Amino acid sequence: MTSTLSSSVAPTAYTPPVASAADTPLPAILGTYKRQAPLFVRGEGVYLFDDAGTRYLDFVAGIAVTSLGHGDAGVHQAMQEAMANGLLHTSNLYRTAPGEQLAQWLVDHSFASSVFFCNSGGEANEGAFKFARRWAKGTGQAAKHEIIAVRGSFHGRLPGTLAATDRPAYRLPFRPLMGGVRIVERDLTELAAVLNPETAAAVIVEPIQGEGGVRVLDPDFLRGVRRLTQERDVLLILDEIQCGLGRTGHLFAHEAVGIVPDMLTIAKPIANGLPMGAVLVTERVARAMQPGDHGTTFGGGPLLAHVAHHVVQRLADPALLQHVRETGAWFGAQLEAIGARTGAVRAVRGTGLMWGMDVHEPAAAVIARAFARGLLLVSAGEHTLRFLPPLVITREQLADGLAILEDALKG
Ligand SMILES: *Cc1c(COP(=O)(O)O)cnc(C)c1O
Repeated sequence: MTSTLSSSVAPTAYTPPVASAADTPLPAILGTYKRQAPLFVRGEGVYLFDDAGTRYLDFVAGIAVTSLGHGDAGVHQAMQEAMANGLLHTSNLYRTAPGEQLAQWLVDHSFASSVFFCNSGGEANEGAFKFARRWAKGTGQAAKHEIIAVRGSFHGRLPGTLAATDRPAYRLPFRPLMGGVRIVERDLTELAAVLNPETAAAVIVEPIQGEGGVRVLDPDFLRGVRRLTQERDVLLILDEIQCGLGRTGHLFAHEAVGIVPDMLTIAKPIANGLPMGAVLVTERVARAMQPGDHGTTFGGGPLLAHVAHHVVQRLADPALLQHVRETGAWFGAQLEAIGARTGAVRAVRGTGLMWGMDVHEPAAAVIARAFARGLLLVSAGEHTLRFLPPLVITREQLADGLAILEDALKG
């Protein structure tokens, strides 16, 4: 197979649209998002309220972030505890207890021997790319540097992660993208053909692709990727920024697949809305890193680490994980049934409380009608609705949302 995708399309072939005509008024916040009109002023559990007092059932959870819901008392208490001693920030030049405790908890509950903290998902993946290259340098093979991602991937919007993100609209205006990163088909034969041990440093995969359409990757494919990367002495990075930390009904999505990565990136729900990311690494990656190899001013500061330590323990609660598995399976069956009843649906995919629904009309049209009826939904591509409710949502609340969804699908 030779159909390897790359970013080497002629740069002249694409003219980006003019973003904003000179006579349109500019919002004070840079116009990189098309924001919905209502102004949200309050959150409570699985609901958001706008300034007119209208209540919205939240099936977005800030894009898989507020897994414990809005206004959670435990999260608030953790924030207050962290604030009580006046220690918001010291920089990573000094030790503080919360980060060390959180890192130890993550080490105790995963394959990892060490953790790097940062401030977002994209930053976690950028860090993982650097760690992979640093490790590769240590193997003594001068040309070992390449990062390989797969079709349908989303790994972030920063220079390195954008090059590993398979979304033309995000990529094209910014070419040339970072070099040494390529995207291949989700196909073991093709991966085997391009995975050169002398040039490849790492393969990065989301066990469940989120932005790319909520695609649960075939466990055999994931196990094959693990086997191949092991055979060729290439690192495997699993990106569980969206699907990790309980979303699938397992603390980490890869636990259900039975593979162990060399690095794992997590972020979105880790502090239930406060910005934080982390890279979990095995011992051999950790041993390749030296002081000065990477850095962050804010990463793993005491406030966020203390809150995250509270949140991860809640997300690891076996009762919550069981709730996600059981409620999620029920939810998926309901989505299938709605598809069969309405005829508006092409496919339903997902696991746990992470589901996608391909619809015939543009997803944005359904999202707008659901919104008008008080249900928040997000898309994952042109024709895919994505469901990422808070993990604490009850079956009754899900049923309320499903009724609105069915109504909205009918037009
Ligand atoms: C959201 C997301 C990212 C990027 O995270 P940011 O915090 O937005 O930078 C990376 N990978 C996956 C799988 C994501 O869902």
